Amino acid sequence: MQKLKLLYEGKAKKVYETPDADLLIQEFKDDATAFDATKRGTIAGKGVINNKISAKIFELLDTKGVATHFVKLLSDRDMLIKKVKIVPIEVTIRNIVAGGMSKLLDIEEGRRLKTPVLEYHYKEDKLHDPLINDYHIRALELATDAELEEICSSSFTINEILRRFFEEKNLILVDFKLEFGRYRGRILLADEISPDTCRLWDKATNEKLDKDRFRRDLGNVEGAYQEVYRRVVG
Ligand code: 5GP
Repeated sequence: MQKLKLLYEGKAKKVYETPDADLLIQEFKDDATAFDATKRGTIAGKGVINNKISAKIFELLDTKGVATHFVKLLSDRDMLIKKVKIVPIEVTIRNIVAGGMSKLLDIEEGRRLKTPVLEYHYKEDKLHDPLINDYHIRALELATDAELEEICSSSFTINEILRRFFEEKNLILVDFKLEFGRYRGRILLADEISPDTCRLWDKATNEKLDKDRFRRDLGNVEGAYQEVYRRVVG
């Protein structure tokens, strides 16, 4: 499938039109940003790694009945996806306290939560993706009741599938962010699932093997991404 016009360039990906009006190509870049792009850098090989990890996870979710935008891998950095209309909500699921939740509630990172926490954030960089709840979503018509129900139940299902999947790779799924899109009247999981969008800690040592190494200047960023790649893709 051929890349046509560049439709959108984001912080970590480029999206191209294709000859099929229903399909797009998502290209994964090595560029990394954090804190609403106030911190910028490059993680060598990240694009290839995130493309292949995301593909592997989308394929796994597909076998478990979770509908996603993924069609197929095209090359090291490119995947073919369905052209969804992104719902302007970011869903965060947390199994262990870290990052935003640690700051918001002044709880030390690493506390295991009794039950998973689901958060909705309004997808708007200039507002720093603020925390919202389901009342905001309905009142502002960001999603319908039926869509929200689908997004919520699908997010918890994805958490159960991924927690088990990463556990088998000796990785703890601390938290992650999901985006969904509308496609022919259905809700599909979109975007990517990778060490850019998940916190993953080594099961034996709790070592951080995700984008926090870049955000927090912990060093060996490339090594962490490669290690997740090795365990997940093989
Ligand atoms: P937090 O709210 O603690 O900063 O993030 C929670 C989880 O969602 C983390 O795994 C983080 O990587 C992911 N996440 C939240 N917002 C974003 C975002 O805008 N970009 C990326 N790449 N990940 C995000």
